[in-house]
Amino acid sequence: MRQNIEEVGQTYGIENWGAGYFSINPHGHLLVHPTRDPRCGADVYELVQGLVTNKKLTTPILLRFPQILGTQLNRLCAAYESASREAGYKAGHYPVFPMKVNPRREVVEEFLRQGVNQGVGLECGSKPELYAALSLEQPADSLLVCNGFKDEEFVRLALLGRQTGKQVILVVEKLTELKMIVRCAREAGVVPWVGLRAKRYSKGSGKWSSSGGEAAKFGLTTSEILECIRLLQAERLEGGLKLLHFHIGSQVTDIRRIKNAMREAARVYAKIRQMSLDVQYLDIGGGLGVDYDGSRSTFEGSINYSIEEFANNVVYTVKSVCDDEQVPHPHLVTESGRVMTAYHALLVTSIRDEIETFANDRPTVVIDGDDPEVIFSMKGILDGINAKNFRELYHDALDDKDELYAQFNLGLVSLEDRAKGEVLFWEICSKASQYAQRAGIDEREFADLQRSLASKYLCNFSLFRSAPDSWAIKQLFPVMPLHRLNESPDTVATLVDVTCDSDGCIERFVDVKSVKQVLELHEYRGEPYYLGLFLVGAYQEVMGSFHNLFGIPHEAQVHVSPEGRVHVNRILPGSRLGEMLQVAKFDPQSAQESFRRQVEREREAGRLTGERADQLVADYAAALNHSTYLE
Ligand SMILES: *Cc1c(COP(=O)(O)O)cnc(C)c1O
Repeated sequence: MRQNIEEVGQTYGIENWGAGYFSINPHGHLLVHPTRDPRCGADVYELVQGLVTNKKLTTPILLRFPQILGTQLNRLCAAYESASREAGYKAGHYPVFPMKVNPRREVVEEFLRQGVNQGVGLECGSKPELYAALSLEQPADSLLVCNGFKDEEFVRLALLGRQTGKQVILVVEKLTELKMIVRCAREAGVVPWVGLRAKRYSKGSGKWSSSGGEAAKFGLTTSEILECIRLLQAERLEGGLKLLHFHIGSQVTDIRRIKNAMREAARVYAKIRQMSLDVQYLDIGGGLGVDYDGSRSTFEGSINYSIEEFANNVVYTVKSVCDDEQVPHPHLVTESGRVMTAYHALLVTSIRDEIETFANDRPTVVIDGDDPEVIFSMKGILDGINAKNFRELYHDALDDKDELYAQFNLGLVSLEDRAKGEVLFWEICSKASQYAQRAGIDEREFADLQRSLASKYLCNFSLFRSAPDSWAIKQLFPVMPLHRLNESPDTVATLVDVTCDSDGCIERFVDVKSVKQVLELHEYRGEPYYLGLFLVGAYQEVMGSFHNLFGIPHEAQVHVSPEGRVHVNRILPGSRLGEMLQVAKFDPQSAQESFRRQVEREREAGRLTGERADQLVADYAAALNHSTYLE
């Protein structure tokens, strides 16, 4: 049994991408360890069952483990602390949480609560984010960093913060912004704290590498930086220049890019410092990635370094450059968001149905004398296919299938014969795929064949709502069952969601070596079978859309005590149908009235009894309170 569980764990790669947060217990259930203490775990399957039976929740359910936010923050801070100690770095580390990664109040507040002793601050990039940030109490010496394009309203909000004693830093993206900041600050009678965002020459790596480099959307060129400094000096506001900002782009896959970028950042900092400007903070932005597939490589969904290695490289590089240039070490500000939040949220979905490409109860084909030639040919292939010739005969079958449809379109083949031909073709495919798998062939052609033969499991969720990056940028998220993990998965399948969009599917799965085209799963027996979609805590919630008007899933916030006791601290019901109508500017009230008028017309025409009409109106009204997903 133990060995079986280990094998199943390896199938899903849980130890590779789980970062110590997940494991499997002897019952074959998934455990979550929010503090990464293996002795303190919660049975996620039982948790979900409790929510379904006792709280009447239906899938999809988002499980949020706020403790994981604190654990990740501690990992980050510990990495910088130990790197600084080792390198003899003589300034501090100030983590700020970039709100765009997950602006949910629970998430932002959790960071501020857990990060009191680490001086955790916030980073915002828009007026609403800034507005929300200003409402929150921050640790005394923490920062509120304002990035992004700004108008006067944005700047005035930031200055409100300065006047209430917050350490708000306006990061300048364009020279015109600085002029506006100077003007607004004069009006408000405060010295603004500003940062300069430098356009870097060195690029990141991975999907977001274009966030850096000369043609980047954000940041100042070298001559613009100098112009900004001259402007501040002319206005006698140079004392407000506090920070230099670099952001290399999200999910940097290759550690070497970090070193290069840090060398450049530290040089720019040092040269500015040598101009007798008291810049105290060097903000290195985000970029610290998440190993979504667990391959620890420079593959898009992975990273080839650990949090510790990242911190060591940053601290060591900045220190050496500063020592070389004989300038004081700057306080390091980090804006890591992805790695802080990705692990803390897990979407639970359940299988609702199985869509078989090729039903098991297909009719047996009986050949008779007057069948067309092409049917005979296919039957011959099916009878003759073996481990040696399967490739060639599979290709012959592809030709025969084309021939079958061509003849059908010319009226030469009956519907009956077309059906026979299809069954024969799929039987050949199924055999060819088995031979290819047995021979360990992983060529594209046969991988595609296996995928097209695999069942599709219909999962109760919307990819566009809960994992939009899976669709938009083909990002991989780990997926695995929450139970039956002591049984070897005996089938393979791809996943489809409940939207009416053929893009609403998952056909690529994490694997250490490459990308799997199908996922190993257990046979669906019509009883509840729960799957988890992991590492969806960064970007997915806020970027998710209301495609097909599917709403926000139910949510449970869960705490696990050191003794392993599970507390569901909060349940937030998901969107109801009525709320989603409003998203599309349908008013539920007028929808009901309009429906009632149509029923009334039918009643007046004598096609409905009064009683029946009332019932229809009541049923229509009641549906407003229902979930948007399958119940
Ligand atoms: C998006 C963003 C971040 C967060 O980056 P992660 O890679 O998610 O940590 C930090 N800083 C800025 C300026 C950003 O735009």
